[in-house]
Amino acid sequence: MTESAADWHARVHARLASDGPREAPWTSWPTWPFEEDTLTPRPLEPLGDEQPRRGAGGIDCEQCSRSDDPSYIFWRDDLMMLGAPFEPTSLPFVAFPMPRRHGDLSDLTPDEAARMGQLTVAVERAACEVLDIPRLQVFRWGDGTEHLHWWLMARPTGTNQLRGTFLPLWDDLLPMREQSALRADLDAVAVRLVDLAGGETP
Ligand SMILES: [Zn+2]
Repeated sequence: MTESAADWHARVHARLASDGPREAPWTSWPTWPFEEDTLTPRPLEPLGDEQPRRGAGGIDCEQCSRSDDPSYIFWRDDLMMLGAPFEPTSLPFVAFPMPRRHGDLSDLTPDEAARMGQLTVAVERAACEVLDIPRLQVFRWGDGTEHLHWWLMARPTGTNQLRGTFLPLWDDLLPMREQSALRADLDAVAVRLVDLAGGETP
């Protein structure tokens, strides 16, 4: 049974009251845009060499090497696959649609591109039917890893404070869910996704 938005809120509220928020990881990242302990923007740095991405050219690509790992991939068909997060999350739904074949966004074939679009629509439909969420937010960064992976994230219904741009930051601050609970919800969405769009679960 999936967790309702009310149960999610009660659990998270209680954990915040006892333990407080998690420490934000991003203030130590080189891309953090503010001076330390302020909201003063940092100066624009000089241009540098474009940094390589992990798995470039399909060499030592974690997404390729784990494409048959059922602890990671919770749905797939001939062209696409859905990965679970490597790290624990706080939100009711976080998943990564990716092509089975190694490549970045502009490397997709017309068939892969069409399937990716259909899949994005079907995953939102399945997730909103199965979970107590209003919609999915869709992001693509991939600046650390070359293998194309969209980010799909959802907040519980009624958590208006979590709307929009800051949802990924809230995900880092709020108490983590048990990985097994997230995976059970992802598996429930995958079963509905097979009904809606084909493919298979592990
Ligand atoms: Zn790859």
